[in-house]
Amino acid sequence: MSKQTLSFQAEVAQLLHLVTHSLYSNQEIFLRELISNASDACDKLRFEALNNNALYEDAPNLEVRVSFDKDAKTLTIQDNGIGMSAQEAIDHLGTIAKSGTKDFMGKLTGDQKADAQLIGQFGVGFYSGFIVADKITVESRRAGLPASEGVRWISSGSGDFEVETLERPARGTSVTLHLRPEADEYLSAWKLKSVIAKYSDHISLPILMEKEEWKDGELINPSDENGGRQPGGMVKTGEWETVNKASALWTRPKKDITEEQYQEFYKNIAHDHENPLTWAHNRVEGNTEYTQLLYIPAKAPFDLWNRDKKAGIKLYVKRVFIMDDAEALMPSYLRFVKGVIDSSDLPLNVSRELLQESRDVRAIREGSTKRVLSMLEDLAKHDKHDTTPNADGVTDVVDADDKAKEGKYTQFYAEFGAVLKEGLGEDFGNRERLAKLLRFASTSSDAVSVSFADYKARMKEGQEAIYYITADTLAAAKNSPQLEVFKKKGIEVLLMTDRVDEWALNYLHDFDGTPLQSVAKGAVDLGKLQDEAEKKAAEEAAEAFKPLLAKLKEALKDKAEDVRVTSRLVDSPACLVVQDDGMSTQLARMLKQAGQQAPDTKPVLEVNPEHALVKKLDGSVHFHDLAHILFDQALLAEGGLPEDPAAYVRRVNALLA
Ligand code: ADP
Repeated sequence: MSKQTLSFQAEVAQLLHLVTHSLYSNQEIFLRELISNASDACDKLRFEALNNNALYEDAPNLEVRVSFDKDAKTLTIQDNGIGMSAQEAIDHLGTIAKSGTKDFMGKLTGDQKADAQLIGQFGVGFYSGFIVADKITVESRRAGLPASEGVRWISSGSGDFEVETLERPARGTSVTLHLRPEADEYLSAWKLKSVIAKYSDHISLPILMEKEEWKDGELINPSDENGGRQPGGMVKTGEWETVNKASALWTRPKKDITEEQYQEFYKNIAHDHENPLTWAHNRVEGNTEYTQLLYIPAKAPFDLWNRDKKAGIKLYVKRVFIMDDAEALMPSYLRFVKGVIDSSDLPLNVSRELLQESRDVRAIREGSTKRVLSMLEDLAKHDKHDTTPNADGVTDVVDADDKAKEGKYTQFYAEFGAVLKEGLGEDFGNRERLAKLLRFASTSSDAVSVSFADYKARMKEGQEAIYYITADTLAAAKNSPQLEVFKKKGIEVLLMTDRVDEWALNYLHDFDGTPLQSVAKGAVDLGKLQDEAEKKAAEEAAEAFKPLLAKLKEALKDKAEDVRVTSRLVDSPACLVVQDDGMSTQLARMLKQAGQQAPDTKPVLEVNPEHALVKKLDGSVHFHDLAHILFDQALLAEGGLPEDPAAYVRRVNALLA
């Protein structure tokens, strides 16, 4: 292949523009990103070589070498991993394969700070090299291809890049950064070593740098940074030394690992620029033995809602990397968890298919799921500390560790709460634990902070159910006519506004023995909360309204399943409810909007016998129009649209005129 110039995919060009306008406040992370890619490439080689030992060629020791050239002002990160063919270089370095990239780019606002935040969640990987370089040269050869099929890729990070074939005996990839003048601090072994120690100490691969020696430098003051010698006297010795610990972090004892090391390791594997919220590191013994290091991120990734979103667990078997995104190891509702699982029981040649069937894998998945739930329970427990003394004058002791966890669960829940709810439908075995972790807004709290247990503790004397309503927005939920009688009686109702709520609640019929009851489903039954007089009045109204209801039912037979009187309304004339086992009109609407099948069940129209409009209906010459207006308004009140909006407007106008 002779030299050709190709354009970056539009999204890459956009990303590069952001990167080169230095969105990162700490530019040194480029080194972590490039070393992490090199390490991934070595992991991939090790894995492919399990079935094809020849891929190692003559170099079985996988490693990364970092070197610099002061005169040429270049910094090179070289690995002997899997490498890239020419086509792979074009594909992998010219386009972004992540699904949802286009959508993501659409969210960028042009506001540097906001975009920097977003881009951090997205992860720039290889392209972060352009933070410090105005030109990058990549030379690579894929393991197994002949030396004549190497590739050189060059770009200055604007619209396009050049590729050509290259004779390259060495397997793997070297990335050479032509540093911008303001980034020449990276032309120093001391600086590079300190950045590597900070970000890449605990990747399992050795990172090598060439040893330097003072030439004729005389030791004057050993406590100075450069040993007190005259600068300029350092020369390379041709000998390479390992500059990182090069032992996989998770294999080391907990007590030898600092908080910062855990955090940096997370950033390496998760490609996140923020610290995680919390983590758990355990060696599990028993029938199935494995090590788990699991992290809960602080921020949701941009593609959390992609249905084909990859799981965040890397699987190792006896320290050999097996695969990324091992979805069999974590249920889908915990897809935000990142980390490493290293098993000593699985075979090295385990495939994705085998993973699905393995008993060991099932045990690991169950154990890891429980571990994540315990982490969340711990955060939830320490989210708020009650520092008021109890009845006996005893105050909880809150130590510094507990204090550090304050507010973290609220933060977690805002990012991932909706995903967690999917677990109600997905993980029956842990449903009760999950239910305890859920939080909602309610008629007593705008903040999403009410647990089922909080709610139960506040239930009224005689109240027999946990009441909730689902709606598109908090405002719609709060102002829903269905809440009127609950407000009047001071009964708390949970307000649920996540899309997944109604689906998820299908799987949860009660909490700790108390049934959950949607206030928009079935006939309202306040049980003991309604006194005898109220019950009697309701029965009488139902009787007295019978003829009117029959007429309404006839007029609305295409729209309403049934028409009945209700005691749930106070100020509104009417509302729509669904039958006990029905799908709410709101969910049905959502499904239809998403182009999905929704059952065509009709709602029930409930009318308020005390309302003036309802009282006036009977005998009105406008009966037919009023009946339809009543129905359409009930639909409008819950955020829906009349089936025929023009007809609705015509009817209202006729009455107004
Ligand atoms: P990510 O690592 O998140 O996939 P990058 O932009 O960092 O995204 O890299 C894009 C792709 O380029 C990688 O997925 C990989 O296929 C390829 N790549 C990058 N660096 C190397 C390397 N050192 N060796 C082999 N392939 C590489």
